Amino acid sequence: MKRLIFTCIMLSGFLLGSVNAQNINNNNKKTEAMKFELPKLPYATNALEPVIGQQTIELHYGKHLQTYITNLNNLIQGTKFESSDLETIVKESDGAIFNNAGQTLNHNIYFLSFSPNGGGAPKGKLADAINAEWGSFENFKKEFQTAGTAVFGSGWVWLAKDNAGKLQITKEPNAGNPITKGLTPLLGFDVWEHAYYLDYQNRRADHLAELWKIIDWNAVEARY
Ligand code: MN
Repeated sequence: MKRLIFTCIMLSGFLLGSVNAQNINNNNKKTEAMKFELPKLPYATNALEPVIGQQTIELHYGKHLQTYITNLNNLIQGTKFESSDLETIVKESDGAIFNNAGQTLNHNIYFLSFSPNGGGAPKGKLADAINAEWGSFENFKKEFQTAGTAVFGSGWVWLAKDNAGKLQITKEPNAGNPITKGLTPLLGFDVWEHAYYLDYQNRRADHLAELWKIIDWNAVEARY
């Protein structure tokens, strides 16, 4: 009898245990909607002055980027992109989801490319690849600025690499990112007016020329 009671207790314990384990597994398996969040800035909002003013950062990062992220989170609910990572959404979506996902990815890269201690020139393999493509860092900067100035209306200019590590400059309209062409984005300058109008008004070329002073080449090299 004692033995039977013992067996019953053990068996019920085992059953309870497996029910609990199953619940936990089911919870883990349930696909949670991906919730994108504003990345944390590695500098204060006034730290990039005078190249980018505090008010521009507060609006561009705190309002524009936040709005793209909020829109993206709302738009993907109940779609096949609900649990996808950001790069997959940018590669595979179109319309409003693409616009907001593209701008989320673009600005995540953009805002994490700056440092108040930035500037100077890239080093190592990235520097070699730039020299191989454009002859010199100075010449690359000129080509990049020219491309950024030539984007008609809103968009981006990107430094990107292909699978072999070869570099190219791409001009993208609106929310475009070279990732949709199978390239890896390394550095992007935002040429939407919201990026520079408070600080430079209509002088986009002047703004682009100033940005080199705050580029965190360590961050850019890490993407290469
Ligand atoms: Mn922007």
